[in-house]
Amino acid sequence: MPELPEVETVLRTLEHMIKGRRIEHVDVRYAKTVEDDPAVFAKRLAGEHFNGFERRGKYLIFRMDTLTLVSHLRMEGRYYVQKPSDPINRHMHVIFDLDDGSQLRYHDTRKFGRMFLCDKDYDFSHFNNLGPEPFDEAFSQEYIHAYRKGRSGPLKSLLLDQHFVAGIGNIYADEILSACGLRPGRSCRRITKKDEENIVLETRRILTEAIAAGGTTIRTYTSSLGVTGLFQNECCVHSQKVCRRCGSDIHMKFIGGRSSYYCPHCQK
Ligand SMILES: [Zn+2]
Repeated sequence: MPELPEVETVLRTLEHMIKGRRIEHVDVRYAKTVEDDPAVFAKRLAGEHFNGFERRGKYLIFRMDTLTLVSHLRMEGRYYVQKPSDPINRHMHVIFDLDDGSQLRYHDTRKFGRMFLCDKDYDFSHFNNLGPEPFDEAFSQEYIHAYRKGRSGPLKSLLLDQHFVAGIGNIYADEILSACGLRPGRSCRRITKKDEENIVLETRRILTEAIAAGGTTIRTYTSSLGVTGLFQNECCVHSQKVCRRCGSDIHMKFIGGRSSYYCPHCQK
């Protein structure tokens, strides 16, 4: 499932490949992928240009001439930039014909991803009650302290809460807690000021490294892009058998229904 670094990587790759391109025609092949009426969606996008590329949490935001296109990849959504002569498969649900003769194709095996249109200058800062971006100043030790006050859930669930901080999913939550030496099941009530500072620092460090890893890998893509597992080989605990730091066996526990990996030796 794409998290913040993967979404950022997809966004920057698309910016490189289709910035400035005009949409000539849109073919919605699976109606539920778009939240508007498919015919209206296609009609409104015809003639629009891909001008600006932004991200908010895990949402891709494309600023056009008179409107904004928003896309959430959910579990398996991905984009390909291909030629019309390239074979189309049954998982390609929205196809944008671009003015340079290429096609932007949205591919989604699970069909959970969604797209919708909103105003040209729509302000996403409070969109869906999303919390601050991890790189925003607003995501601080003081913020974490205030947010967790009166709460008692596990730290893992706190990091996955998109109202707390935007863009973190299962993999990076495990990695951040591993780097902080905190067990995922630990109550968010029982952490110190130092832990709060570490969560801010390690969140930014790990996401930065993951974006960099995605960025280096993505350069090898020429006409297509997928977003799976670029950073996962580097994980210290998530889906690992032994801890990369100390070699102890990694434990796995379900927390809030999500598989949570941790090292019992390094994380307290
Ligand atoms: Zn360890």
